[in-house]
Amino acid sequence: MNELARVFEEMKRGKHAPLHKSGMQSTVKEFSSDCSRVQSPSSINTYFECPRKYFYKYIKELPSKPSIHLIRGKLVHSVLEDFFKLNPAKLSTVGFDVELKVILLEDFKRKWQESRDSILNLGLSKDERVAYFSDSKRMISNFVDHFSERLRLHLPKMQLHEAFRLLTPEREIFLESKTHKVRGYLDAVYRGEKVSIIDYKTSSTDTFREEYKRQLAIYSLMYLDNFGRLPDEVGVHFLLYGLKTLPVTDELVEEAKNACSYVHERAHSGKIADYPKGSQPLCKWGSGACDFLGFCGGK
Ligand code: SF4
Repeated sequence: MNELARVFEEMKRGKHAPLHKSGMQSTVKEFSSDCSRVQSPSSINTYFECPRKYFYKYIKELPSKPSIHLIRGKLVHSVLEDFFKLNPAKLSTVGFDVELKVILLEDFKRKWQESRDSILNLGLSKDERVAYFSDSKRMISNFVDHFSERLRLHLPKMQLHEAFRLLTPEREIFLESKTHKVRGYLDAVYRGEKVSIIDYKTSSTDTFREEYKRQLAIYSLMYLDNFGRLPDEVGVHFLLYGLKTLPVTDELVEEAKNACSYVHERAHSGKIADYPKGSQPLCKWGSGACDFLGFCGGK
């Protein structure tokens, strides 16, 4: 266990007091070395959200708290991964959509059950757990409907298993841009007549938030550096609502370059004072709070 993880563990056991606005002493030592790093779309987005949060997460490497959003996101992504590994030759041409739903929903229920202890430890009410479970099933069901609809369009021209393969994207592709010092994993890349990069989201709304746009813009930049061309479009598949895409323009790529250099220029110090609290920080909302509120004291 590294020093910071140990401090965090000790804090949870009450050996150290967290930092509060009232001026309690920080338990976290300051680094003096160069803390620049290869960034990722998520570290860059964290910096834009709140530089202080970036400091706790990426410089001090304090662990994030488990949340239903993280657990559920991982479960649903894993079900989609299983989906693309299915053998389509075993599906019936007529009722494939029903068969796919049954298989995926069973897969999801099993994974949810396996994560039962982690979910119970979150302290959600029974109603909340039921609501997240139902929403997740709806996401999977919607995904099958969306895929089946596209599959049907190809069936007059080819066999079911051929269409399934045609619509199966490359997944979890790791890309790195050495020029812009950024790397990350892409959920899905379709390379047919056009190249599309798609990210799956389990968000409760289908708002194309600025951070999603920035993430996709950075993926486009990484794609360009690795394959010598830009993708044609990027998109978010909101699993509760559907797919939304954006064309990849020079402007979008320029925004990605600017975002990378903005963070690289500012995030190399090991001193907390160099990471101001964000202008619109998400310290506390509804029943949730920033993972580092206890250290930081909020804004
Ligand atoms: S508590 Fe607020 S100000 Fe502090 S790190 Fe979190 S979001 Fe930033």
